[in-house]
Amino acid sequence: MNLHPSSVLFVAGVAVYVGIRAHFRQIARAQKTSVRRSSRRDMSLVMLVGLCQVVLPLIFVFSPWLDHLNYGLPGAVSVAGVMPLLGGLWLFWRSHTDLGRSWSVTLELRENHRLVTEGVYRLIRHPMYASFFLLALAQALLLGNWLAGWSALAAVLLLYVVRVPAEEAMMLSFFGAEYQSYMRRTGGIIPRLWRMHGA
Ligand code: SAH
Repeated sequence: MNLHPSSVLFVAGVAVYVGIRAHFRQIARAQKTSVRRSSRRDMSLVMLVGLCQVVLPLIFVFSPWLDHLNYGLPGAVSVAGVMPLLGGLWLFWRSHTDLGRSWSVTLELRENHRLVTEGVYRLIRHPMYASFFLLALAQALLLGNWLAGWSALAAVLLLYVVRVPAEEAMMLSFFGAEYQSYMRRTGGIIPRLWRMHGA
């Protein structure tokens, strides 16, 4: 058991994360799909991210199985983890809210899919993946364990590198010039503020 304040805080964050996902999954279930580009590779990546974000932290906190990979964390490091945790949870919720009916776990387009370019999507194309990076950073700062702390960062990086080209190709083939122009004025996970004027 590793019931330190920092790891308990992270697990509380995980509970909020799972709650947000469960809520939007209900909404997504009611939508009809018109294009399905999900693959076994994509599904495996989603599962790997879930394992690293949720399962490994729970094992670290509630069992002794990963204790041989523990290391001590200075208090200041844990304090620094609170900001990316809160910021990541906010961005995760906000990107779900802005995407609304257009959200799906894997690569899919809904019937009458609407290209969302407002809210947090006005600044970046991948706020949900940006929230994964923030949460993974919080995980590394809050859990003093080589596996439970750092694996999510590696998994999210892999998801980002593999999925984004496939996702953007799907969006381009469906929305064409509209998505091209959206790509020109936005960044992936970091806003291109200097490009937004006059967009
Ligand atoms: N990459 C985005 C969305 C992740 S969810 C993010 O990080 O926030 C993945 C699904 O969202 C894709 O299958 C696609 O159908 C949908 N999607 C991605 N960007 C979108 C946009 N700007 N407008 C509408 N749907 C979008």
